[in-house]
Amino acid sequence: MTEDTKMKQVAGTSDSAAPQKTMSQGLESIDRDYLEQATLEKAKELGLSYINIAKAPINPDLLKILKPDTAKNALMMPFFRIGKRLRIAVVDPNNAETKRVIEELKKQKYLLNINLASLTGLEEILKLYESDQYQVKKEIQTTYSEKEVQEYEKELVNLADLGPKVETVTSEEGLQLINMGAMKTGASDIHFEPGAKAVRIRFRIDGVLHKVFELDAATYKNLSNQIKYLAKMKLNVSSVPQDGRFSFELNQRKIDVRVSDIPTQFGESFVFRLLDSERGLLSYEDMGFKHDYLKKMNNLINMSHGMILCTGPTGSGKTSTLYSVLDQFNSPESKIITLEDPIEYNLDGVSQSQINEKRGYNFADGLKSVLRQDPDVVMIGEIRDIDTAETASQAALTGHVVLSTLHTNSAVETIPRLINMGLPPFMVAPALHTIIAQRLVRKVCDNCKVMRSIPEAKLKDIQKTVEAINKIKPDLKIEIPAKLPHPAGCDKCSHTGYSGRIAIHEIINLDYEIRDMILKEESSNNILLAARRKGLITMREDGILKVLEGLTTLEEVVRVTGFNR
Ligand SMILES: [Zn+2]
Repeated sequence: MTEDTKMKQVAGTSDSAAPQKTMSQGLESIDRDYLEQATLEKAKELGLSYINIAKAPINPDLLKILKPDTAKNALMMPFFRIGKRLRIAVVDPNNAETKRVIEELKKQKYLLNINLASLTGLEEILKLYESDQYQVKKEIQTTYSEKEVQEYEKELVNLADLGPKVETVTSEEGLQLINMGAMKTGASDIHFEPGAKAVRIRFRIDGVLHKVFELDAATYKNLSNQIKYLAKMKLNVSSVPQDGRFSFELNQRKIDVRVSDIPTQFGESFVFRLLDSERGLLSYEDMGFKHDYLKKMNNLINMSHGMILCTGPTGSGKTSTLYSVLDQFNSPESKIITLEDPIEYNLDGVSQSQINEKRGYNFADGLKSVLRQDPDVVMIGEIRDIDTAETASQAALTGHVVLSTLHTNSAVETIPRLINMGLPPFMVAPALHTIIAQRLVRKVCDNCKVMRSIPEAKLKDIQKTVEAINKIKPDLKIEIPAKLPHPAGCDKCSHTGYSGRIAIHEIINLDYEIRDMILKEESSNNILLAARRKGLITMREDGILKVLEGLTTLEEVVRVTGFNR
């Protein structure tokens, strides 16, 4: 333990356990190490476990277990929970108030594991109660009732009517209308974009931006103040970017909204990200895993260790896929910890921890702390740097199942990407277990689709792909139907012709041959060819299969995969 050695080398320089404010940073951290070491010794004497609480990743949900005053008076903090098993940090287990709260928790049927923490560490972590994260979680500002939603639906058959309506109501009601409109159309983001003449409001629905309506500058001014107030941003600041968040409730579902604000030529531009943390997880089938790929996904549950990487650009549904994998591993016997930014779904029985870069809690450091908690399965939101990549592969090599995401265009590109990050091939080869590359394509709206015969130009393109698939996977026996669905547009799909999305995939399981090729530093093209010989269907081919099934269109597949592959 490096903290130990640091302490021993400098023990003589400091004999006070309480850090003084005037001390330099270096001495302060040495003092802290000394204090933590002393607490560890004391824990041993008392026969308790020790926790360096200031460094523990804490799921904000745990803060709900104790009220801020109770935690402060009892000098106590819950820091880890699986079901009713709860680990708490205390400064003095014999303190009367501490004892009282422990008894209270026992009455609530918690099975407690008591850990000793230093006073300074605990005081630091108690500050979490003052953080935005906790404050925002505590209060849900707005609740929309079913009646309001119905009212809204009656009035606004067409989204374009939102604009005039918003201009006649208060900014609070206006924002409410916009939020409800977004939820009703299944939008994932709301964009407010000021221009020279008007402010454009666009919704991202099924991955594509749609202009919904425009607002005049005066209405927008009031609306932006309301947004900044709700998202706890500085009202008087408009020349630098700001981030904030708020939440609302719709039909008993809590929706978290992440707000980003940037200054533009014509005023502040806001983007809302709507996070519905309680929407259900999809099955592999419903997500779009087909043929061999469905089997491969179902087999993941049998792995004992190794890294599963899901790759694709932002908004390609990587996290949803990993959540479904995580859900397969979720059982009372296994311990699962996630490090996320942001936490997008709540999973029962899983310890989910929110990254906070501003507090110095990043993926790399967070992962190191998490591994000390002895998990079976770990999910890290994203591998962005060599530090995270290295720790993740070490974890994968030492008996953990590690799930993460990476930004690459195809499955095979993941290998050179990791190597370029600085991860040596001798680690990539044994650590990596499965690579899932994916994109989301829009599904043709069932309500308004029109069946049409395939135009000559398209048919050629499709025939070529089908020939290739049949060569690689003769058992699939793919045939081209005479007619395919064509998107038309109706009220149900907001006149887009599409409704909902489905993923297209390519999956590589690393076997002996591919691992050997990585060790020999063979080109990714050679690795791709080897994978093709073993039956790899590319993302584009998987997309064409979904076109032939009538789920989506060739235009959609081309849009998300590009022309080059
Ligand atoms: Zn439709």
